Amino acid sequence: MGTTSLPVIDNCSGMYIDGQWRSQSEAESIEITNPATGERLTQTPACTAADVDEAFAAVKRAQKEWAETPPRDRADVIREAISVLEEKKSEVRELLSVESGSAAVKTEAEFETAINHMEVAADHSRNKRGLISASKTYPGKENRIQRVPVGVVGVIAPWNFPLALALRAVAPALALGNGVVLKPAEETPLSGGLLLAQIFDETDLPDGLLNVVPGYGDEAGEAVVANPAASVVSFTGSTAVGRHVAKVTAERLAEPALELGGNNPYIVLDDADLSRAVDAAIFGSFMHQGQACISINRHLVHESIYDEYTDRLTARARQLKVGDPLDEDTIIGPVINEHQRDKLVSLVEATVEEGATIETGGNHDDLYVEPTVLSDVTNEMQAACTEHFGPIAPVIPFETDEEAIQLANDTEYGLSAAVQSSTLSRAERVAQELESGMVHINDQPFNGDPYVPFGGVKNSGIGRYNGDAIYRKFTKSKWTSIQRDPREYPF
Ligand code: NAD
Repeated sequence: MGTTSLPVIDNCSGMYIDGQWRSQSEAESIEITNPATGERLTQTPACTAADVDEAFAAVKRAQKEWAETPPRDRADVIREAISVLEEKKSEVRELLSVESGSAAVKTEAEFETAINHMEVAADHSRNKRGLISASKTYPGKENRIQRVPVGVVGVIAPWNFPLALALRAVAPALALGNGVVLKPAEETPLSGGLLLAQIFDETDLPDGLLNVVPGYGDEAGEAVVANPAASVVSFTGSTAVGRHVAKVTAERLAEPALELGGNNPYIVLDDADLSRAVDAAIFGSFMHQGQACISINRHLVHESIYDEYTDRLTARARQLKVGDPLDEDTIIGPVINEHQRDKLVSLVEATVEEGATIETGGNHDDLYVEPTVLSDVTNEMQAACTEHFGPIAPVIPFETDEEAIQLANDTEYGLSAAVQSSTLSRAERVAQELESGMVHINDQPFNGDPYVPFGGVKNSGIGRYNGDAIYRKFTKSKWTSIQRDPREYPF
């Protein structure tokens, strides 16, 4: 295995604490390899709990003054960061490819999403809201309700959309007057962590407000969740770890913001426009190798169109180009690592043993897993009832709208869903019945809009990101009252 050169990143041997690049202390290292080639890219430190605690000490020192900085100045810092990022667009996209196996279509979408999150964040800090009103209860009293920063936000990010999912928390947290300690995923510490440090280091953001501590979940991650300074812990990742984050934060009365797993149903009713439904299905199942919390996990298709739908989906899946993500026409790159690949292979094997048929795919070469369509699937089979997080499309038949709703809801998750039908009222009725934080009619579940609340129900998380929702999450209300006239007390 050789070593590939690394785009964009100037410093990856350090951690970023208090505005300084620190070299590794006693920490061990994380080896970063390109999933497309297996080549070693570099190594980053695996921060210890002591490193993380230092980051929190720095952010606490810096945050108070930042909270008092005029919101317009904070917005300007976010806009500076946007300019720095935009200047480096092609290198950043290349970094996303080599570090996370992302094809061009995904790096473009992720880059634009990241910019959008930053733009929304800059808008927040220009629109600082509050309320002044006469008390409706006490004569002569004036009430002032301000939104003030929560203080320090701990951000723990995943590997699948490392840049966008880190920035959707980091940018609004900073814009709203908070300080941040960011722990990127160990698979993507560059594009989900050190890159952000490098970008903000080029802006006027005061030292100490953004700290980046690459590391493993069980050491650096745990230390972020447990630190008493983190008033909010923003966690995006698996439900199992999210549940643990919820317990630890509840114990110390901090707030978790949890975006967790999904098992997203894609319902195709008998009157759907089939070409449109298959176009959407291909995107929703195979964008970034199906490695998104909002990818289609199950295709639920009316029995009268089941065969034709499956044939068309299969034909289209066969045409998807699998290859190195740096080739412009590649759609399917590698999955992130061997663990994920092995999980996918065993899920397909188990589902076939349970009676499913492989229509296409089912093989792999290194980390390249073929786009796989499975027919004769039931909701209970492994690839359907598990969040597979890969380029697998299990297709399940149903007879009635009621059955489709029942199958769709028969999961512990409730993140995103979609319904295809040419009768809008019918699709709306189905959408209304779905236990899901987000439902898209005549589209597929893979949707995000930085102004619109994003999040799930059931085991898919607690709280919402984006727009007003993240504004409320990263600020808290403060009630100040002024008793203008003397008040009468009962004793
Ligand atoms: P993961 O839970 O294993 O890891 C996510 C992050 O948590 C990583 O940074 C990891 O280091 C950290 N972590 C692990 N153990 C920890 C601990 N004990 N304490 C603190 N931090 C810890 O998830 P993953 O496999 O990297 O990501 C895939 C999962 O993320 C899927 O379930 C997917 O659905 C979910 N996800 C959800 C969203 C969403 O917005 N709902 C977005 C992307 C991914």
